[in-house]
Parts: sequence; C-alpha cells; structure tokens
Amino acid sequence: MPAKKKRVIPIKLIATPVKKKKRKAVKKPAYDCGKCPGYCCSYPLIEINKRDIARLAKHFGITKEQAEKRYTRYDKSEKAIAMRRQKDKHFKKICILFDTRKRQCTVYESRPGVCRDYPVAKSCGYYDFLAFERDQQEDPKFIATTS
Ligand code: SF4
Ligand code: SF4
Repeated sequence: MPAKKKRVIPIKLIATPVKKKKRKAVKKPAYDCGKCPGYCCSYPLIEINKRDIARLAKHFGITKEQAEKRYTRYDKSEKAIAMRRQKDKHFKKICILFDTRKRQCTVYESRPGVCRDYPVAKSCGYYDFLAFERDQQEDPKFIATTS
C-alpha cells in the first residue's frame, strides 16, 4: 500500500511542485522566499508525519512524545497530524515554529518534509501578488494579505 501523501491546504493557491525528473530544468524560481513574510507557513493544515516529529525532537533535544505534544495537533476533519499554530498579526494564524518578528522559520534545517517542497516550484502565486502590491505601495517590506 503506498504511503499516505502529505497535504498542505490550500496548496493549489500557491504553487505546483515540480516533478523530480523535471527539477533539473528549473534554474531559478521566479520568487524569493527570503523576501516573503511566510505566507505558506500560514496554511490552515501543514501535515506532518512521525519522521518529521522525530526530526523536530532531535532538533530540540527532547523526546518524540514531547515534540508531538508541543508542536503538533490532530486535525479531526482531515484526520491528520499537523503543525500547531500561533496568532499572527498579518495572517491571523501561522505555524507555531515561525518567528513572527523576523518572519522566518525557526527550524529551517529540521523543517518537516512538506515544507521542503518549497522553494522548488517554478512560480509562487502569493509571491507574484506580493511583488505587485509592494510595487504599487512603493514599499519593499509591505506585507500583502489575502483576506
Ligand atoms: S513558497 Fe511562496 S509563499 Fe512560501 S515562503 Fe516562498 S514565496 Fe512565500
Ligand atoms: S516548520 Fe518552518 S517552514 Fe514549515 S510551516 Fe512551520 S515555520 Fe514554516
């Protein structure tokens, strides 16, 4: 039986991951995650698995049980283990492991597998929107929201 695919909702709003065999053809994505305020970290469901939990436990030097309790939650409607979330002034809620001041992941090297799918997509819909709004506002640090 194939492994259950990890999900991120709403993944289709952002970008289509490039299939492995095509990745070589992608030289440079048309977006810069380093300049983004972390929109994809605010997705309602960032699904993770036991391996991700073990990686986070190792990163923090705690047990898997502690990592699961501190950083994850069970999403009943999706029947999936997901990252816990915290309040965010821009996107209302965002991953608990996101630094809301510096606007970056605090566990980048140990981030869950689904987070590693980015930035490998050819384009990012949110980044296009962000770049347009920053240009319109003439503010390179403007944080565009979708609600
Ligand atoms: S993939 Fe898009 S939304 Fe996610 S951090 Fe990069 S630019 Fe931002
Ligand atoms: S683990 Fe890091 S990259 Fe993944 S959603 Fe949380 S803050 Fe974002």
